[in-house]
Amino acid sequence: MTSQRVLEIFREITAIPRESGHEEPMTNYLLAYAAKLGLEAKRDATGNVLITREATDPAKKNVPAIVLQAHQDMVCEKNDGVQHDFSKDPIKYVIENGWMVAKDTTLGADDGIGIAACLAILESDIPSAKIECLFTISEETGMDGAMGLQSGFFTGKTLVNLDSEDEGQLFVGCAGGVNTMASFNYRPEKIKPGAAGVKLHLFGAQGGHSGDDINKERCNTVQQMARFLFEESKKVDYQLVLVDGGNKHNAIARECKAVLAVAPGDESALCNDFQAFVKALTAEFAVSDPAVTGKCEKVLLSSDAIDADTAGRLVSALVAVHHGVLAMSQDIPGLVETSNNLASVKMEGEVISVCTSQRSSVESAKDFIADKIEACFKLAGAKVQRTDPYPGWKPNLASEVLKLSRDAYVDLFGNEPEVKAIHAGLECGLFLEKFPDLDMISFGPTLRGVHAPGERLELASLDKFVLHLDEVVKRYPSK
Ligand SMILES: [Zn+2]
Repeated sequence: MTSQRVLEIFREITAIPRESGHEEPMTNYLLAYAAKLGLEAKRDATGNVLITREATDPAKKNVPAIVLQAHQDMVCEKNDGVQHDFSKDPIKYVIENGWMVAKDTTLGADDGIGIAACLAILESDIPSAKIECLFTISEETGMDGAMGLQSGFFTGKTLVNLDSEDEGQLFVGCAGGVNTMASFNYRPEKIKPGAAGVKLHLFGAQGGHSGDDINKERCNTVQQMARFLFEESKKVDYQLVLVDGGNKHNAIARECKAVLAVAPGDESALCNDFQAFVKALTAEFAVSDPAVTGKCEKVLLSSDAIDADTAGRLVSALVAVHHGVLAMSQDIPGLVETSNNLASVKMEGEVISVCTSQRSSVESAKDFIADKIEACFKLAGAKVQRTDPYPGWKPNLASEVLKLSRDAYVDLFGNEPEVKAIHAGLECGLFLEKFPDLDMISFGPTLRGVHAPGERLELASLDKFVLHLDEVVKRYPSK
């Protein structure tokens, strides 16, 4: 297998529509490819495809298969004003300074390059054990393929996931997650006669991804707003009329608003306190989140307030609940093992909903952090519900496929690859549910700007990735 051939196949793939949920043309291409090579192929009810190549090394006839895995779909994003129909137009790309780049759309190297590498291996004359190539669907929109996978669909006990983005790094673990939703039913309470309205706004925080960025000590504006409200309740008698902050469950809250009703004459005291608070906040976050700021303005009040009892319990819970890293990995330096993101607080009807999102690479630790969050909101009298759980993949540094992949890398390139895990989801976590004994690793060439227009693939890293994968398949199950 050569990187030139992998690139040739990838160029073919760039012309095949494969938006998540619409992978049919890609699936047909894979099945036709298998037929052309005379290889057995099957598709499950979910849409996942498996192509099998029997052992070509006679000495490895009785060795379990090695599974090579990539996902069929791609994220379809384009720049504003660009004419491009992802359901039929081929992706346009250029080769520039050693990179393959799609300037106005996503390139789909995530994970088209993984598919191309699988197909190049299948058609190659590499002597190997049995190879099973697994192509899942809809990875980018919820990992539906991995979720729908049935035990027994493949037979291998070792899986190489080809959906990583940093050449020279071997991934051996990922986080699982669950969301915990708390809801407070409140009683609308009349605003006190003559009260003045004040709107507080925290904004300008960087936010970021609740997995990748949770250890960056960025400002969570929802929690910081609650902190101010908690402190201020000791000084100024206010009614809480509105609180609204954050957005998606997997994003750190960049903005939060609150509207308070105070006795006439108390507005300036409140605004002065808020300004002092913002000053302290910007000093606290001067390094990790320097643009966070806030403002205070007078507003007219048009709705009822949240009853004082509920408002007090809500604010206390938002202050008490853990946000950020709870534990670091003991095996992998620098890896966040367990975290919580206090994602959002929203009001609708007479309900205030708080969304939080827990992650951990250790399944039992994920349950524990979810328990802590649930307990905190239950103490505050909220109703609590867990949603959208997905399992993690705990790093196993004694893994055989890790040793094999590491040794192959060192022998080829003369330097150590980095062994890492990520605090975000990969399909590997879901595979473990159905195939608990699976030994896994994930690696790939260097991609940048994935999921956005301008996505690019570094060609020099593709050369190394292809050499490495070729060597791993050749050596499997061991040298
Ligand atoms: Zn991917």
